[in-house]
Amino acid sequence: MNKSSITLLHPFANFKFFNQWNGYISVAVLKDYLEKHGIRATVFDLSELLSGYFLGSSYLQQRQQELVQEISALERSDHIGDLTYYLGLSFLAHVLLKSSDEKIDTGTLSRFFVEEPSLYQAFVQPFNVSIIQDIAPEHFRLHSEIRTFEHILKEVTHRIPSSSVYGITVPSKLHFNSSIILSNLLKHKDSDCHICLGGPYISLVDKRRLAALIEAGIIDTYITGDGENKFLRLLRDLNSTVPAAVRGEYKKGTHPSVNALVLRSPQPDNQPIKLILSKGCYWGKCSYCDYRNLSNRFSIKRVNVLVDEIASYYHKGNTRFLLMTDAIPPMYAKRLAQELIQRDLKIMWGSRFLRIDTQYDKELFLLLKESGFDFGLGSLGMDSFSDSALNLARKGYDRKTIIRFFEAAEDANVIFGKLNLIYDFPGTSYGDALETVEFFERFINQYRLLAVFKFKLTPTSEMGLYPGRFGLKSDFKKTTSTTYNDVFFEGENILTSEQKRAVLSSLGFIKNTLLIHKYYPHIDKRVLLSTRDYSRNIRFSITRKMEQYDLFLRRNSKGDHCSRLFSFPEGFVPDSLSLENYELFSELRPKTWYAVEDIADQSAHNSSMERGAYSQHTYQIMRHLLARGFFADVVVEENASDSS
Ligand code: SF4
Repeated sequence: MNKSSITLLHPFANFKFFNQWNGYISVAVLKDYLEKHGIRATVFDLSELLSGYFLGSSYLQQRQQELVQEISALERSDHIGDLTYYLGLSFLAHVLLKSSDEKIDTGTLSRFFVEEPSLYQAFVQPFNVSIIQDIAPEHFRLHSEIRTFEHILKEVTHRIPSSSVYGITVPSKLHFNSSIILSNLLKHKDSDCHICLGGPYISLVDKRRLAALIEAGIIDTYITGDGENKFLRLLRDLNSTVPAAVRGEYKKGTHPSVNALVLRSPQPDNQPIKLILSKGCYWGKCSYCDYRNLSNRFSIKRVNVLVDEIASYYHKGNTRFLLMTDAIPPMYAKRLAQELIQRDLKIMWGSRFLRIDTQYDKELFLLLKESGFDFGLGSLGMDSFSDSALNLARKGYDRKTIIRFFEAAEDANVIFGKLNLIYDFPGTSYGDALETVEFFERFINQYRLLAVFKFKLTPTSEMGLYPGRFGLKSDFKKTTSTTYNDVFFEGENILTSEQKRAVLSSLGFIKNTLLIHKYYPHIDKRVLLSTRDYSRNIRFSITRKMEQYDLFLRRNSKGDHCSRLFSFPEGFVPDSLSLENYELFSELRPKTWYAVEDIADQSAHNSSMERGAYSQHTYQIMRHLLARGFFADVVVEENASDSS
């Protein structure tokens, strides 16, 4: 046992399998930073360990036999009562099937969960520790989820060598409970070890909760804000002081220079190389934002330092890079692009986040493209299209700026990866919301995905601290969310529930259009947008995929049968919609084209709806399934005569 060793841990987030390279790269950054100062540390990623446990494993094999019986029993009953449970089992079946012939990796697993949240919910239910509010030491024995989780954790933590110091990063609320359970296990293994928590969530969480953990002996110290220098000082202090004397918030150490946060560690082959660009946000004024509390000032890497860092990876054969930043300043992006072109580095690069800024114009977009900038790699935080909401949010731009920005993007043929919108930001009138929908429709060719968020009042943002200044009244007592940064509030200029539903439905239609286009790119997005009603000016035809699952379930010796799963094409993960409607599509023959009415006619006798309404209902289901890639192909015939 090496008692002077240092271990850095990236916890898992509620079984989402987001490993350190999918999101925050703080552990790798810290490891390289310590190494530069002569301190070696070992990194363990609990998401990796845990997914290895699931996918490699006896767990799945054990589940295989039980699954067949459970699924077929559910299917034999007249009605699949607990659909969520059935979905979870179906998902496991899918994972088992895939893992038998090709290696399913953590990325694939995360993708399934992101695409189909209900699968994820079903899958994690038995060990969903993230949802437990205010987890405290005295709860440990009370929650069955915690006990199950601890049990699974024990199966993987034996691979982590005993160390004298553990640094655990907590990127978000979703990682918090699992970090505490992990700390508790480590302390049980060796009560002399020192455990320090850091990372963004630790800077935002109520300090009383951290004090209680220290009091209970689960952790020793925690660090807020930028932690690299502080952690370095902590290690030196622990070497020279009695470790037990170092407790509580560790505050010594200065703000590290971002130029010193240069990465050398190898990174996964299948993703762009992630590099730290800045700490803090260059804008830093948004009233609802708590990110800006994470770093007390903005600092950005010198262009030449960053390009040297890129070059060192480039000469090892890496050509794709993603810059980790809250928002890349446009003039910095310009200088960086010029330097990359001048040094003839033929790379693709992108920024994790982009902010709308008056300084972006067609020329800058073209220059960025020339230097290899991939606008599809990151997210564009537009947040609102309402002038009054933008004003309250202190975004620093208005609707006119947004339109100019998108017109320039259109002229330069720039396509953004993902656009972020907070659809119900306070101050947004219903008229604003409808104009937002029109805006997204107008520029639909300039983005690939639309992420629609609900407004959340974060307690440490300016709005959360002084809600009255923004016409809001908050009430912590009524806050029921498990996500900490979502305080209950009331106020004027807030959309009604009915208005929200209507807006979400229109935005959902746009999102659905984008997804259909992703699977069937030969169909123009604008054509898809114009087809809200199947029979108006369009005829949709589909054909189903050839192959069906050859599930291991078929080979079950007891003759158990899982017919519903058979009806799905290979590679398709069933979801609630497809399961509920499987009869509608299971009879379709491959290589045969069907119009909406043909499909509707097959099952119309089961419905009391009149024919036109039933066809429209069928069309809506079909559109959702098209957005999941369910069918082999789709044809849209414009200006066909109304066939109803
Ligand atoms: S919301 Fe984004 S742009 Fe605004 S201050 Fe926060 S990080 Fe910066």
